[in-house]
Amino acid sequence: MKIRQLFDPESSTFSYLLWDNISREAALIDPVQTQVQRDIQLVTELNLTLRYTLETHLHADHVTGSGVLRQALNSIVMVHENSRTKCADVQIKGGDFIPLGTDRINVINTPGHTDSDISYLIPGAVFTGDSLLIRGCGRTDFQSGDAAQLYQSIRQQLFTLPADTIVYPGHDYQGRCCSTIAEEIAHNPRLGLDKSQQEFIDIMNSLKLAPPRHIHEALPSNLRCGILGTDTMIPQH
Ligand code: FE
Repeated sequence: MKIRQLFDPESSTFSYLLWDNISREAALIDPVQTQVQRDIQLVTELNLTLRYTLETHLHADHVTGSGVLRQALNSIVMVHENSRTKCADVQIKGGDFIPLGTDRINVINTPGHTDSDISYLIPGAVFTGDSLLIRGCGRTDFQSGDAAQLYQSIRQQLFTLPADTIVYPGHDYQGRCCSTIAEEIAHNPRLGLDKSQQEFIDIMNSLKLAPPRHIHEALPSNLRCGILGTDTMIPQH
């Protein structure tokens, strides 16, 4: 399966275009609405058919491009069933797999940053959203976040993958593109093997982070796949 990493500098969000080279079927992980024209142009230039948009979770820091891409390219919107996103075409969960040409994308439950986090696994690479970041992890202080749950997700679901699996995160703020499971086990300052679950919880509880700049726009909008309507639902958590 081919991988193209794409970046939105405004939100430091990575999107990932995956495709099967023979069928030319593609999936786009975590599209950003302000980058939709860039993404449509790339899909067209590479002669791909965008079959799916896949969210790693309900984002609080940017508006998804999934709804606009569905309108433009007839792609299928997939999100985790916990995200309460009524606009989605397919609600997915850990253990599911998504066919892409002759290949498939495996869905892994990795909650803790939010209760709707999933990672996508293909041979040799995992797309971790905001669960596991390079030398870090997603915050756990809103959207039903749970530090103990995130510790278990990363230790039991992600750190048990083959050591040379490439980690493609949902964001990076320091110019890095990717990592490996072995690197994160050895060097992640929050989740390395020397850190107990209680130490991790204490680290996460001490962060005192400001809310994301666009949270009040992004959350209600993303519940509508980025397309606001009159019946927009505001999350109650
Ligand atoms: Fe997030």
